[in-house]
Amino acid sequence: MGTVSNIDPAPEAINLKPGIVQAVDVVEARKASIGDGAEVRRLLPQRTLRTIGAWCFLDHYGPDEVSRGPGMRVPPHPHIGLQTVSWLFQGLVLHRDSLGSRQLIRPGELNLMTAGGGIAHSEESAAGRPPVLHGLQLWIALPEAERHGEPRFAHHADLPVVRDGAANVTVAIGEYRGERSPAEVFSPLAGYEVAVPGGDDLVLPVREDFEYGVVAVDGSAVVGGALIAPGLLAHLPAGLSEISLSPAGGRRLARFFVIGGVPFGEPLLMWWNFVARNGEEITRAREDWVAGRFPEVRGYPGSPLAAPPLPPVPLRPR
Ligand code: MN
Repeated sequence: MGTVSNIDPAPEAINLKPGIVQAVDVVEARKASIGDGAEVRRLLPQRTLRTIGAWCFLDHYGPDEVSRGPGMRVPPHPHIGLQTVSWLFQGLVLHRDSLGSRQLIRPGELNLMTAGGGIAHSEESAAGRPPVLHGLQLWIALPEAERHGEPRFAHHADLPVVRDGAANVTVAIGEYRGERSPAEVFSPLAGYEVAVPGGDDLVLPVREDFEYGVVAVDGSAVVGGALIAPGLLAHLPAGLSEISLSPAGGRRLARFFVIGGVPFGEPLLMWWNFVARNGEEITRAREDWVAGRFPEVRGYPGSPLAAPPLPPVPLRPR
């Protein structure tokens, strides 16, 4: 089933440092195992591409059949230093967190959880769900001034949708053609679902101070001269004023997800479900989870996730 988090039992430590990208490139997803044999397409972070703006994690999962069996089951687990963005194309998922939130999410809606200094949550396929689950899980790194702040959770069911020629652009994060998402983020960011019929070219006006990534959700397209399909992410460096998106033939509606932001200027250290700045912070957060010092997620039908062992090599910036 899909993941909404990093529940890899042996996660690798990944240092994220600001980098300069010289050209449009295409990165291929890594197949990430998420416990019960299910796999997701992990598009960020990559060794060659750590972040896009403050977007620091991107899993694309499904479409998965979830009418039989439990479907998605992501037990309670902790986060620090990030916001989680849950986005569905198909399916129905129930979010619970340690603030007491209990929120269903449907396609086209945004669940935005701000971890700040610490939060825990779970996500599960909900009763009455449709048979197919398909979505994205993204993380946004919080800047220094915000990363120790109070945790909070927001659900946005009424996002602006911009009709752009034959395309529909749902503004999940940031602003598009004057329409602004109500979602609260802490660095300049964009996040759009783009639905466009095959054969129709779309030119997205974009900010020159942003870099962008385009994910093929359920179609293929030429983006800025590069061909992408599900499992591939086109990365477009800052400095562009528009991005051309040409879906492959047929009139079928193809969907894409666009992320963007001002290149993130702070080094990051990511391990498991934590986004920090150094190994001491990671070690402390893990110890806090193991010792039960994170607040409790109530109501999840199962045990919380156990923290994996720290890697043998100390976590430190490279
Ligand atoms: Mn999570």
